[in-house]
Amino acid sequence: MERDFFTIALHADGAFADLPDVAPAIRPSTTFEYAEGGRSYRRVSDETTERLEAVLGGLEGGAAVAYPSGMAAVAGVLRHLRPQRISLPDEVYHGVTDFVTAEAERGMWSVTPADDLRPGDVWWLETPSNPRCHITDLAATTAEAVARGVVTVVDATFATPLLQDTLGLGADYVLHATTKFIAGHSDAMGGVVVTGDSVAATSLREDRARDGAIPGALESWLTLRGVRTLPLRVARQSDSAMQVAAFLASSRFAVWYPGLSTHSGHDIAARQMSEYGGMLSFEIEDGEQAAAFVDRLQLFRSATSLGGVESLAELRARSNPEEPPGLIRLSIGLESPEALIADLDQALQATQ
Ligand code: PLP
Repeated sequence: MERDFFTIALHADGAFADLPDVAPAIRPSTTFEYAEGGRSYRRVSDETTERLEAVLGGLEGGAAVAYPSGMAAVAGVLRHLRPQRISLPDEVYHGVTDFVTAEAERGMWSVTPADDLRPGDVWWLETPSNPRCHITDLAATTAEAVARGVVTVVDATFATPLLQDTLGLGADYVLHATTKFIAGHSDAMGGVVVTGDSVAATSLREDRARDGAIPGALESWLTLRGVRTLPLRVARQSDSAMQVAAFLASSRFAVWYPGLSTHSGHDIAARQMSEYGGMLSFEIEDGEQAAAFVDRLQLFRSATSLGGVESLAELRARSNPEEPPGLIRLSIGLESPEALIADLDQALQATQ
């Protein structure tokens, strides 16, 4: 049976709702009066975070472990798995490359092509990828990984738990920067790792208690509040992104959006995603023109990050100097698609 995302987002933490309050309480206490079998210390266990994990685990169909940022989730799962080798895809969030290569230089693991992975190694995947939405065929890749004894971790931040059944498609672990679509309001950092293996989830939580990588109560609460409306937001963001992508594709620029039939991953995305998400990129070849274009936008804010209710346009080279100077990444928010297209149009007219 298909998961009922709308109801899960509202009720998967129902077992915690023992107060008359309809909204969850924020429980900031770091310590708890001693009671046999009760909570002892916040780094070990905390109600607000557990409520959030119940919802995220429900949405993704596994056991969820929350972290104070997406990168803390990346570090948490990789330190836990301690592979000898990791393979990264051609395009992957640059923070992941930075972390994996910095740790490789310290001798933690080595970075290898996927063909060289051996049993127990990690095949890191990100689909759709940041920023060009490259698509990995999850069913085919995870089947190959199982046959070779390789562990798959999939960063599905762009897909959210809604648009792609990442664990159902065979991933061992799925990861999200909840800072993005899941919290959804550009006001709470967080990350989550979800796995179908409850023993592994318990072990991740034990590591997290030792490492001290527990999210703050306010951040967990804000993320819990944000996730309640995730299904509504993601549906609208996907729908608007499709319209914006079609508009940009009618211009002379290269556009990367998996919903466009011209995108290299379109056929696979059409199979493994229910919609194509709220992220797209396009390139204005001249970097100065691209910067002027971003400055002329009035609704899109010129900022990094993604997945919030407000639309953002980022000259990607400002965050990752390895990207071409004219690559612009758009995160589509909840404004009307007509207003967003009009904003892009006026900035393009002035740029051409
Ligand atoms: N994964 C992806 C795909 C991202 O885009 C980001 C941040 O932009 C992260 C992970 C890291 O998340 P955070 O910034 O919350 O550490």
